[in-house]
Amino acid sequence: MLDAGFLEALRAVVGDVGLLLGDSVRARPVNRSVGVVDADALVRPATTEEVSGVLALCHARSQPVVPHGGLTGLVHGAVARAGDLILSLERMNSIEHVDVTGRTLRAQAGVPLQRVQEAAEQYELMFPLDLGARGSATIGGNIATNAGGTRVVRYGMTRGLVLGLEAVLADGTVLTSLNRVLKNNAGYDLKQLFIGSEGTLGIVTRAELRLVAKPRSHDTALLAVQEFSALVRVLQHLDAGLGGHLSAFKVLWGNFYDINTAPPANHVPPLARGAPFYALIESLGTDPIADQARLEALLSDLLQMGVVADATIAKSDQERRAMWAIREDVFAVGRIAALQTFDVSMPIEAMQAYTEQVGAELDRLVGPDRTHIFGHMADGNLHLVVATGEDPKLRHRVDEIVYQPLARIGGSISAEHGIGTERLRYLSLSRTSAEIATMRTLKHALDPRGILNPGKILAARADLIR
Ligand SMILES: Cc1cc2nc3c(=O)[nH]c(=O)nc-3n(C[C@H](O)[C@H](O)[C@H](O)COP(=O)(O)OP(=O)(O)OC[C@H]3O[C@@H](n4cnc5c(N)ncnc54)[C@H](O)[C@@H]3O)c2cc1C
Repeated sequence: MLDAGFLEALRAVVGDVGLLLGDSVRARPVNRSVGVVDADALVRPATTEEVSGVLALCHARSQPVVPHGGLTGLVHGAVARAGDLILSLERMNSIEHVDVTGRTLRAQAGVPLQRVQEAAEQYELMFPLDLGARGSATIGGNIATNAGGTRVVRYGMTRGLVLGLEAVLADGTVLTSLNRVLKNNAGYDLKQLFIGSEGTLGIVTRAELRLVAKPRSHDTALLAVQEFSALVRVLQHLDAGLGGHLSAFKVLWGNFYDINTAPPANHVPPLARGAPFYALIESLGTDPIADQARLEALLSDLLQMGVVADATIAKSDQERRAMWAIREDVFAVGRIAALQTFDVSMPIEAMQAYTEQVGAELDRLVGPDRTHIFGHMADGNLHLVVATGEDPKLRHRVDEIVYQPLARIGGSISAEHGIGTERLRYLSLSRTSAEIATMRTLKHALDPRGILNPGKILAARADLIR
């Protein structure tokens, strides 16, 4: 329980509207993937100064603080326990500035990603980050998780789209680095500390984001492919032939496509079911007629070479959205049993052997057709969704099957969702002990009392993690 004096001090900083207590905290809607949110109090500061005031109070009494954005994170990184104080950025939701010439946009951390995308579009510009949770996920959350999304092959991850940011440190110090220029090598690039640190090193309050020209053509195609090795050839052919326009190359394993396009799923299959793999590709360009013709010619090459078994190009925005909806409907297998979701990465050359080995082991353990794989193949990123059920021992075994081989092949236990609390025990498969020790040094330097999102990324007690 937080004591009354402390709550009154918080109220003095954020006002009545900025402080929620008791049942009004627990009754708030929470995405099922967030996990338990059990805190007694939640602050909703409206300005950076208020965030600073809240953290100064928390630092003084070593009060744990859990930042909340849009709560779409998938690794239980926003879990709060009784005694924690939640700090939600929901009232910091303004877009402050768009610089059309310099192609930058400054947003407060609580702005949903989709609003940033829409604001950029008004100026014929584009914020390239895109992901299925765009309507709820916030810019602060995207930065805290270094979100990847659908266009990484062309535009990079969030890290590459943030020019500057403002963060509040654990003791309330405001670190304003709202750089707007692409090139700035004046010493350490401090913003990178906060990108992908999941709220453990500071609270992101504002960001200067990089925009690009809005593409004038947008082509989406779905391809049916018979062999994994052919997927690699398709990727190389399109990447070379599209002259830098390839912005997405997603692969759906056959059973993922089938379950999402067969009843009771309501997506209509744009291509017949039954192929081992489907590739969903996107090209963003400048000339609608020429770009579509170029894509058609490339697909025709691939069909003639026998690399692709079938292909279709979306002829309208509606068809394009329908194709993407199949890819974004990732939890269909959850109809069978409670899910485990993974986002791993690895060199593309290791992908086939990894998926065959892991797929076979999971089939033996949890049963056939309970593992669905899809992913951003061009980024080396695969998502596995496994209908494991609730048994903790079985879930642990599934974790081991998915994660253990990654160390040997130079992969990562988290391509884009982060570590949160879910992957704590596996961090050492992807990071050396020297790397983890340096992370702890940084954490201690910036947050000596360990109040910021405690127990996330780095376990509180390293010796308890096996
Ligand atoms: C349907 C769906 C599709 C998704 N697709 C993708 C995808 O393609 N790629 C991808 O990378 N992710 C994806 N995600 C995961 C999720 O959307 C991202 O991780 C997103 O960036 C989280 O943003 P959020 O605002 O919801 O953050 P939250 O879930 O609220 O928080 C995530 C983490 O960041 C911390 N945090 C939040 N805001 C701040 C802040 N202002 N300062 C410091 N720390 C903060 C939290 O404490 C927590 O540790 C998807 C999720 C869903 C539900």
